[in-house]
Amino acid sequence: MDLSLSAAELAWKEKARAFAETWLFPNELELELTGSLPRATKDRLRAAVVESGLNGINHTRAVGGQGCTQMEQTLINEELGRATGALWAVVWHPALPLRDGSPDQIRDFLTPSCLGRRRACVAITEPDAGSDTGRIVTRAERHGDRFRLYGEKWFVTTGDEADYVIVHALVDGDPDKPTLFLVDKDTPGLTIQREPKFTHTYVFGHPEFRFEGVEVGAERILGGIGQGLDLTKEWFVEARLQIAANCIGAATRAFEEASRWANRRVAFGKPIRQHQAIDFMLADMAVEIMATKSLVYRVAWGIDHGIDRKITHAHASAIKLQASEMAGRVTDKAVQILGGRGYMRENPVERLNRDVRVDRIWEGTSEIQRLIIGGQIAKRGPAIFTGWPGDNSGA
Ligand SMILES: Cc1cc2nc3c(=O)[nH]c(=O)nc-3n(C[C@H](O)[C@H](O)[C@H](O)COP(=O)(O)OP(=O)(O)OC[C@H]3O[C@@H](n4cnc5c(N)ncnc54)[C@H](O)[C@@H]3O)c2cc1C
Repeated sequence: MDLSLSAAELAWKEKARAFAETWLFPNELELELTGSLPRATKDRLRAAVVESGLNGINHTRAVGGQGCTQMEQTLINEELGRATGALWAVVWHPALPLRDGSPDQIRDFLTPSCLGRRRACVAITEPDAGSDTGRIVTRAERHGDRFRLYGEKWFVTTGDEADYVIVHALVDGDPDKPTLFLVDKDTPGLTIQREPKFTHTYVFGHPEFRFEGVEVGAERILGGIGQGLDLTKEWFVEARLQIAANCIGAATRAFEEASRWANRRVAFGKPIRQHQAIDFMLADMAVEIMATKSLVYRVAWGIDHGIDRKITHAHASAIKLQASEMAGRVTDKAVQILGGRGYMRENPVERLNRDVRVDRIWEGTSEIQRLIIGGQIAKRGPAIFTGWPGDNSGA
């Protein structure tokens, strides 16, 4: 078993680290203290992503992306995940279902998105439908070969910056016809109703959209009628892996900050690291990060090495659950080790602790991940999680 990273993988990791240090960290405080970044800064960041060759890492070179393997993407996302304020989000990953688009959709949506000329947001969640997508009611009424969309979508990340929306709607209100539509944001009838504030400071917004007779042609259907859920489900694997990688980066930075502080801070005659309560917290943090990283890298490796997609789906839930909960525990301990300073917003540890809270909620809550994992154990047997690739356990 060779677990070492290749030269190419290390090069991507280094590139992402340099990008985070040069472009993301210097903007963290301004973002935190003012709640947003000036337009000129956002534009500079966008140009820097392209200059650094980090645009569209999750798509092939043929469509304008970088063609990174899953392992390379994981290493990149881990490095970017060290940044606070979700500044990792400035490095765009055009939604994966776009690769299933028609040649025209790839030309008009995917390639410009990879190149940083367009930006998408994804609108699935509704006021009455989150975990339970069966409760979605946004409908696309068919009128000949055109469709009119009606409904409300919440928590649309990057909806303020995007110029088009990938909308999940039911054709003619039929629950058996969940479908994805590509909708330009300036289409009449599409409005932003509200831009609520959230626990984290996020470089972009999560507005609420209203669709009131928003008209699009059939050529704006992504995939086909009725394929909406399948395309989204397929995408969850990579999305959950990305979150897990971000969480490792956030936890690692918080741990490093705490470890440095434990050497410097003196209390009751010695550096606080020499108080066993602090030393034990650091030990637990290190082991948690190590265990999670081993798990996440293994799943990324599995995708690159053709592990059965059904297994990968199950494993994606396991890593999302483990990494998000681990990041919560580790960043919380980091706050504790820094004491009052750990509670100051100017301290990255405070921001990381707040930032990772949402990782237990979006892309499937921890409870939903447990439901999936439990269901997979019941269906395929425990070895899907306890086994190992190649040991005939099905893992
Ligand atoms: C900052 C942010 C950004 C987001 N970005 C996007 C986006 O870009 N696009 C998008 O479409 N959505 C987005 N979301 C929505 C996100 O995916 C949902 O919030 C999430 O799926 C949970 O849905 P909900 O909020 O409706 O909670 P609910 O589904 O109402 O769940 C409430 C609680 O009940 C629990 N629960 C629900 N069902 C079960 C069950 N069967 N068993 C046990 N417990 C259960 C949940 O785990 C949770 O604890 C975002 C959310 C946030 C907070």
